[in-house]
Amino acid sequence: MIAEILCVGTELLMGQVLNTNAQYIARRLAAQGVSIYHQQVVGDNEQRLEEAYRLALSRADVVITSGGLGPTVDDITKRTAAKVLGKELVLNEEAYRMVCERFQQYHRKMTLNNQSQAMFTADTQILPNPNGTAPGAIVPAGEGKVIIHLPGPPHELEPMFHDQVEPWIQARSGHVLVSRYIRIFGMGESEVDMRLKDMEVRDNPTLSPYCSLGEVILRATARAEDAQTAAAMLEPVISEIRSRLGRVIYDVRTDDGGSLAETAVHTLRDKGWTIATAESLTGGLIASTMVEVPGASNVVKGGWVTYQTVSKTMLLGVPEETIARCNVVSEEVACAMAKSAREQLDVDIAVSATGLAGPDGGTPERPVGTVFLGIATRERVYAVPLHLSGNRARIRTLTVKHALHAVTREIKGEMEG
Ligand code: AMP
Ligand code: MG
Repeated sequence: MIAEILCVGTELLMGQVLNTNAQYIARRLAAQGVSIYHQQVVGDNEQRLEEAYRLALSRADVVITSGGLGPTVDDITKRTAAKVLGKELVLNEEAYRMVCERFQQYHRKMTLNNQSQAMFTADTQILPNPNGTAPGAIVPAGEGKVIIHLPGPPHELEPMFHDQVEPWIQARSGHVLVSRYIRIFGMGESEVDMRLKDMEVRDNPTLSPYCSLGEVILRATARAEDAQTAAAMLEPVISEIRSRLGRVIYDVRTDDGGSLAETAVHTLRDKGWTIATAESLTGGLIASTMVEVPGASNVVKGGWVTYQTVSKTMLLGVPEETIARCNVVSEEVACAMAKSAREQLDVDIAVSATGLAGPDGGTPERPVGTVFLGIATRERVYAVPLHLSGNRARIRTLTVKHALHAVTREIKGEMEG
């Protein structure tokens, strides 16, 4: 099955709205093993949309549109598709009832042009929209091909795709795909690639790596007649990867979510530990990133943003003498920050960060990207030196990731210290 994504909306062309729908659909399709060779973006222009449809139908089996299902004159996605297919739009009773229901639910008055949201070709399969007024649709397009219309707002499109389009694709393809996502921190993509090269060329299960800042994620996907068989095919692959990569794997999961923060918070929770933070260059980002994880309230006790030196001495009691002797960006200061945070809040572990995010302030001895993390537990206090590269945002984000990873590893007893 070959699919093509066709996003409609002038706001996308102008860069006012980021095309997250294309990314979402493409990722989900890839996970389903559906091939995508092209994506298109067109404005709300009938003639260019018509051309886009013809081109897409000439090279794909399934054309998935996003946007332009609304009631206004610039919402031309369905009308233009019908024109290309040589069909008429007629009022669909089922869809009309759905649209009316939504308007009642939202206490909004329905106007005559809202009827257009219930207009479809006679052979259309309607996709209910629990999160908005415009239903989606699966429209037969001849030669076994279809056009699938989805609404533009991501909070409407994503559940509709996941709950209704994916089962439709699975039913048509006659097999299931099951994936595992292996999250890696502390090993670059090329190193991962080198160690798994022979596995990445295999056909089933397939193994494909992708990167996000400082992290590598491996997707292992097995294709089989049923989910149980596919899952069983993945097991030996996962253990092989575990033995080749070792401790840099911080999570193996069935969905493409997860994060170092989630793993850190869950590891703290499982151990029954609490944490505090003392942050300089990250300005509260370590704490904030943990607090994004549901359940953080059970483990994150609090923290300090001690950005200028004066706050390190005043709030954390780091001796001025230590700062003068060792430099504010040093192992000693990182340790003193973490130790003080741990003691003041009486937590099981505290993490601190002091460093140079740049762009200014670097010296030959301490170039931009020099960072020290401090880890303090009830047993010991130590520093982790980091030599990071990149711009200010990257250095700060990487510091947070290293801090979360260090916390997780310390709790699991994996840190040599
Ligand atoms: P529409 O259904 O064309 O009226 O679009 C409604 C709204 O959904 C737009 O104003 C955008 O905010 C959002 N939207 C439309 N298309 C996309 C897309 N491809 N990616 C992300 N958001 C979108
Ligand atoms: Mg639009």
